[in-house]
Amino acid sequence: MKKYIFLAILFTGCATQIPLSEVTSSDSLLEYSDRITPEFLRQHLEVIAHDSLEGRDTGSRGQKIAADYLADYYTGLGLTPKGDDGSYFQHFKLNAEYTDSLVYQTFKIQESDTIRVDHTVESKDSYGEYIRLFGGTAPLAGDVVFAGFGLNDPERDVFHLDGTDLQNKWVLIFEDIPYVVDGDTLVNPNITSNSRIRSILVDKDAAGILLISNYTPGEFNELAAISSSLIGNPSNLSLAYLDNNRAAAGFPRGFKQISPKMATQFLGLENEDELFKKREELVRTITDFQAVETPYYVEYTPYDGPGYIETENVIAYLEGADPELKDEVLVLMAHYDHIGISQPDETGDTINNGADDNGSGTVALMSIANALQQAAESGYRPRRSVLFLHVSAEEVGLLGSRYYSDHPVIPIENTVANFNADMIGRSDPENIRRGDTDYVYLIGGEIISSELDSLVQVGNEKSVNMRLDRRYNDLQDPNQFYRRSDHWNFGRLSVPFVFFFTGVHEDYHRPSDTVDKIDFEKLSRVTQLIYASTIKVTNYDGRPEVDNEQFIEITRRLPR
Ligand SMILES: [Zn+2]
Repeated sequence: MKKYIFLAILFTGCATQIPLSEVTSSDSLLEYSDRITPEFLRQHLEVIAHDSLEGRDTGSRGQKIAADYLADYYTGLGLTPKGDDGSYFQHFKLNAEYTDSLVYQTFKIQESDTIRVDHTVESKDSYGEYIRLFGGTAPLAGDVVFAGFGLNDPERDVFHLDGTDLQNKWVLIFEDIPYVVDGDTLVNPNITSNSRIRSILVDKDAAGILLISNYTPGEFNELAAISSSLIGNPSNLSLAYLDNNRAAAGFPRGFKQISPKMATQFLGLENEDELFKKREELVRTITDFQAVETPYYVEYTPYDGPGYIETENVIAYLEGADPELKDEVLVLMAHYDHIGISQPDETGDTINNGADDNGSGTVALMSIANALQQAAESGYRPRRSVLFLHVSAEEVGLLGSRYYSDHPVIPIENTVANFNADMIGRSDPENIRRGDTDYVYLIGGEIISSELDSLVQVGNEKSVNMRLDRRYNDLQDPNQFYRRSDHWNFGRLSVPFVFFFTGVHEDYHRPSDTVDKIDFEKLSRVTQLIYASTIKVTNYDGRPEVDNEQFIEITRRLPR
């Protein structure tokens, strides 16, 4: 059924030429596309993707610097602000899990005595014997039980989770799973790290997991320092006005890494060499071992901060020339937030510059605004209006675009279409290999509105004439790009959209997504295509009709 519908979508969506009769000359407007240059784009991208913006994480200092930069830019251009109170900023509030510090107290129970053996405070400027990997949104306390590799694998007679009750206990396990040792399969290859976590925390209802990794004390400290520096960053963000169920947010159970020192103590060993030997011995006796109690008890308390953050979309507006049509708007959109600072990559870099994701789309909008404004100053304006919408909080769940779509500054019924530019500055490995990098992926368009697709096609023919690749326009596509970026917040309201995209690459969401990897010639061509398509849509007599509401219906029903 799905497949049948999908084929119907493809075959009715074939692009046809639309006769365009225009009052305002598109051709005069198109001449201004030469203002879109690789140099212009580079100049702004070097700022947006600069290290000092620290990866533009939603709500962070760097994101605010980027927002200010955009607002200053539009002020300089003279575009109309369309944010709150006559500013360019549309502020909104996100609920967040906001941890100031995590406190771990470790006790040894000796006959009638309870001795505190460790007190670790994990915070922005302190760390100790524990590292939070994830979870732990609730206070947790319990005895420590050693469960070997933490596996139950009946087929191979491995029962590490049996022998003692694990409910509400901390389960101490070795991190690596010895699937194959000396050619012998010891563990079912279908057991994964994730399924192991599930069986301990869900099936056995443990309080948490304490993980023993193969780190030297020095390596552990290095990792602990980096991890603790990330504490205090908000996580699990959600739009405050949509969040009815804060208690359900987050993951209360704990998943922690412990230092080799703490591991040797829990296991009653002398030093790290013995820890290594213990692991070896466990591999040899993997079928004999069952979980055992230790004399230790761990109390864990997270301390929460304010619980929300504030962020903003940046919105500028260029009014159209046609008195009949200027109330209608084309929304050009690009998210300007990114994922901030993360664990270091192999070069030690921790700043996710997000040059392609989505500095590229951000500077594309800036340069289109510049070209249109220069045209306007010479007396050429498109018939309809254009809204430049720089959204925040994309990387944390498309929240900025969701906020805008629920709080539009131009009514949604007057929004004739949405263009989203997200990652348009590079080429993917497949096309590079084939030496065919003069392309862009179009997503949306023909599967929603064949008219909108035709307008982009005409825009392309009138400008850069690059290869328009519609391969991702497919409900069955495993990537699901048609609902994976901000445009879907317009799509869900039946606003036809086109998502311009040049594909994923090896630097996606890594600190190596940097300016030097950007193909500025290409970015400039894709931007010119978006510019030409903008003119075609804003000057078109009619509104691009949604002729495939079915697609939107099906997509709405898909599980998130
Ligand atoms: Zn993106």
